[in-house]
Amino acid sequence: MKISGLLKERASFSFEVFPPKIEQSLEPLKETLDQLYRFKPDFISCTYGAGGTNKGRSTELCDMIERSGHDVMPHFTCIGNTKQGVHDFIGEYVSMGVENVLALRGDIPHGLDGTNGDFNNASQLISFIRENFPSLCLGAACYPEKHMEAVSLEEDIKYLKLKQDCGAEFLITQLCHDVEAYESFIDQIRKKQIHLPVIVGIMPALSKDGIIRMTVSNGCSIPRELAEIIGKYGDNPEEFKKAGKEYTIKQILRYKTAGVNGLHIYSLNKYKDIVDILQASDLCR
Ligand code: FAD
Repeated sequence: MKISGLLKERASFSFEVFPPKIEQSLEPLKETLDQLYRFKPDFISCTYGAGGTNKGRSTELCDMIERSGHDVMPHFTCIGNTKQGVHDFIGEYVSMGVENVLALRGDIPHGLDGTNGDFNNASQLISFIRENFPSLCLGAACYPEKHMEAVSLEEDIKYLKLKQDCGAEFLITQLCHDVEAYESFIDQIRKKQIHLPVIVGIMPALSKDGIIRMTVSNGCSIPRELAEIIGKYGDNPEEFKKAGKEYTIKQILRYKTAGVNGLHIYSLNKYKDIVDILQASDLCR
């Protein structure tokens, strides 16, 4: 199933998982996936480790998901990748039956001043994959509160338009707790002729340290409502999780009300809390 085709019909619903370290078994993740499949996701996306450190693991995981009869969308980055390497790797995905890929630049590893590969940014990677694998449906990342390195949101949006021009067919947002910032971003990109459907990435607030780390390290804001939960329950993990789940449920409902093209849940490879959140937010299908 091509995600671009699905998004023409209706809003999508999906999960992100990440491959475990090479020395760890895939079994616990298999259990998580079995639980997540119960919600009939349209696809499961699988991240690509920084610098491609766990390339093999990503492929193994994607293969496992694909074989279970579910659509998988591998993420793929420019870091350390040559044209030949990308060709071989994406070719392997295509032969597995993969129809969608999320094409990214990747975070520049500490100590490097570039991607250390043949592509400098996501647009170049998108163009290359589009040319060599024309049947693949390509997604790209977007940042409602601006990418950390961009000097301004306006400039970031200029490069986002380039991703569309190079062949991206849909976008997935970085986590964004501020629904108003998301709505303003949508207004701005539509004014710049970016017409791609936008799927919103939802990061559940399950632990104080986790949500602060993920939010701050991506340069995103923490709205007052979330700050209050952190302030009130930060020293009590159980109470924090309870309030964080309620907050996440509200966020999902706010985004649904905002009329998003899809919801993509960053599962963090967990299922118990995710199941609670989804059941309460009426996302079960
Ligand atoms: P780009 O679109 O290339 O943008 C990177 C920066 O360069 C931006 O500041 C942009 O404004 C600027 N820029 C873009 N084009 C140009 C140009 N032509 N000239 C000058 N400047 C330019 N990382 C991983 O390592 N693995 C993953 O699996 C992964 N999955 C992700 C999934 C989602 C949904 C999101 C939102 C991010 C994910 N990331 C992942 C993180 C992502 O790789 C980083 O945010 C990275 O720093 C930027 O990637 P990009 O594809 O947005 O890059």
